[in-house]
Amino acid sequence: MADASNRLSAVPPEEVPLAEAFHEELAPTEDLLPEGVESSREELWARAEALAYRLSSELRIPVRLAVTDNRSTMVSFRRSSSVLQLRLHHMFLDAPEPVVRAVADYAGRGNRVAGGVLDDYIRGQQPRIRQERHSAEADLNPQGRYFNLQSLFDEINRTYFQGGIQARIGWGRMPPRRRRKSIRLGVYDHQTREIRIHPALDRPEVPTYFVEFIVFHEMLHQLFPSSNGNGRRVHHPRAFRDREKAFPLYGAALRWERENLNLLLRG
Ligand SMILES: [Zn+2]
Repeated sequence: MADASNRLSAVPPEEVPLAEAFHEELAPTEDLLPEGVESSREELWARAEALAYRLSSELRIPVRLAVTDNRSTMVSFRRSSSVLQLRLHHMFLDAPEPVVRAVADYAGRGNRVAGGVLDDYIRGQQPRIRQERHSAEADLNPQGRYFNLQSLFDEINRTYFQGGIQARIGWGRMPPRRRRKSIRLGVYDHQTREIRIHPALDRPEVPTYFVEFIVFHEMLHQLFPSSNGNGRRVHHPRAFRDREKAFPLYGAALRWERENLNLLLRG
C-alpha cells in the first residue's frame, strides 16, 4: 500500500537523531553524531525545540521531534491520538513558514497535498543532504584498545551468517562526556553498510560475548531492514527478534546489559 509517509522516504537507515525535542522540554540524546553538521548541538536543540513548539501549538497535540542528518528519509512520522512523533531532516529547522505549515498538515493532519509542498522544498535543498563520505575508510577503525571489531565480525559472519553479511565495521567516536540517560550501543547504516559500535564497550570489564551480541544485532539489521508503512516504522521486525534469540548467549547478554547499564552510561 502506498502510504503518504513513504513518498518522502527511501529505505531508512537506522537513524541517529541530531537533536530531539519534546514540546518545550529538551531531551537531547547522547548518540554517536554524524559529521558534516555545522551548527553546534546547543543551537540545534534550541531550534528543534522552537520548531516542536510551533508544530505543537498549531496542531494542539504534543509533538516529539527528532532532527536527523539522514540521506534518504527527510520526513517520517508516527501519529497517535495523544502524540505526534516526527523525524525531520535538519533542513526543516529554518524552513519558511508555508513549509512548516505543510509539515503540520502532512504529518499532523494526513493532508497529502501538503506532501507535494514538502517534496518541492526537499528538492530545492539537495545540497544540504549529506553525501557519501569520501574519507569513510579512514574514519571507521575496527581496532580498539581491547577489542578488534573486525575479527569479531568475521567470526560471527562465518558462524551465524555463512559469511553472507557485507558491511564495514568500526568504533564510533566518543561523544562529549555528559550524564547520559540512555546509550545506543550500535548503529547500522543501510546506505553505507557501516556498523558503528559505541566506544563505551571498548573496555576490559565488558565481556567479549556482550560485544559480540551487539555486533550480531547490528548485522541482523542488514538481513531484516526496518519496515516503514502507515507512517509507522518498525526497527526490529518479528523475524529480526526471532533470529536474535538464536544467539547462544542471548539471555546472558541481556542480563549483563541490565546489570551493567550504569557502567555503560558512565562512559
Ligand atoms: Zn537495532
